[in-house]
Amino acid sequence: MRIFDPHIHMTSRTTDDYEAMRAVGVRAVVEPSFWLGQPRTSPASFLDYFDALLGWEPFRAAQYGIAHHCTLALNPKEANDPRCLPVLDELPRYLVKDRVVAVGEIGYDSMTPAEDTALAAQLQLAAAHELPALVHTPHRDKLAGLRRTLDVVRESALPMDRVLVDHLNETTVKEAKDGGCWLGFSVYPDTKMDEERMVAVLKSYGMEKVLVNSAADWGRSDPLKTRRVGDAMLAAGFTEDDVDQVLWRNPVAFYGLSGRLVLDVEDTGAGATHEGNSILRGAPATPAEPGSGARGSEVAPAAGA
Ligand SMILES: [Zn+2]
Repeated sequence: MRIFDPHIHMTSRTTDDYEAMRAVGVRAVVEPSFWLGQPRTSPASFLDYFDALLGWEPFRAAQYGIAHHCTLALNPKEANDPRCLPVLDELPRYLVKDRVVAVGEIGYDSMTPAEDTALAAQLQLAAAHELPALVHTPHRDKLAGLRRTLDVVRESALPMDRVLVDHLNETTVKEAKDGGCWLGFSVYPDTKMDEERMVAVLKSYGMEKVLVNSAADWGRSDPLKTRRVGDAMLAAGFTEDDVDQVLWRNPVAFYGLSGRLVLDVEDTGAGATHEGNSILRGAPATPAEPGSGARGSEVAPAAGA
């Protein structure tokens, strides 16, 4: 099973997660920029974060054979904080970068006038940069949030078939599908969709333009949820080709709209560095010499270390 997780916040996850993801079939991820769980206080904080999503994080992912791309934006929550708004002026110089495959996450959190303004402005940025957009839908008042989101997209210069509307569920899937956008589902351990509900949605609405993600971040979430959905699909009678469509070909098609998706991962090998930094901690362990009594990692650094 080859898997593309189209929405996961790897900055919040460990190398153990990358290892486990690779082992179950994850070969590609897209990491949308989002908030940190607490407010940023200046645009500079966004820029360092964007640089990490474009530099350090793809480097980490490559060590595990996983292709990493990102989507960049001012997220819905922080669109309400005037201290953060100047990042909108910085976005254009980031949206031209190779690994940026969409503008996102944009959309509504509390459906405020400030969020209206930021959403419209960033849909315009997506259109201007010929990028698709990843649009988050609110967790409260979901159907009203979806309707308002679709209205704003219709008024924008971005065609609906270049928009992925995320965090859908049974109450919003029909209107989103009728609207003509791509359909994103986040599968969480306790809330929103679970594997079985996801399978039921696929049975009712089909697989066309459907993307499934773990949306794993620093909260209660599971970076292996994509694989669990694939297994649940097979158990429910879907074919391997069906699973491949939902977990691989659909995300490749959507983010491929950017013209920037590169799925071959350069094998960086153990001990590789990014601007002088590596994911290793301490010198690599080496075999102990017979009778020396010393543990390899405690002796002099190996040649080349
Ligand atoms: Zn997210």
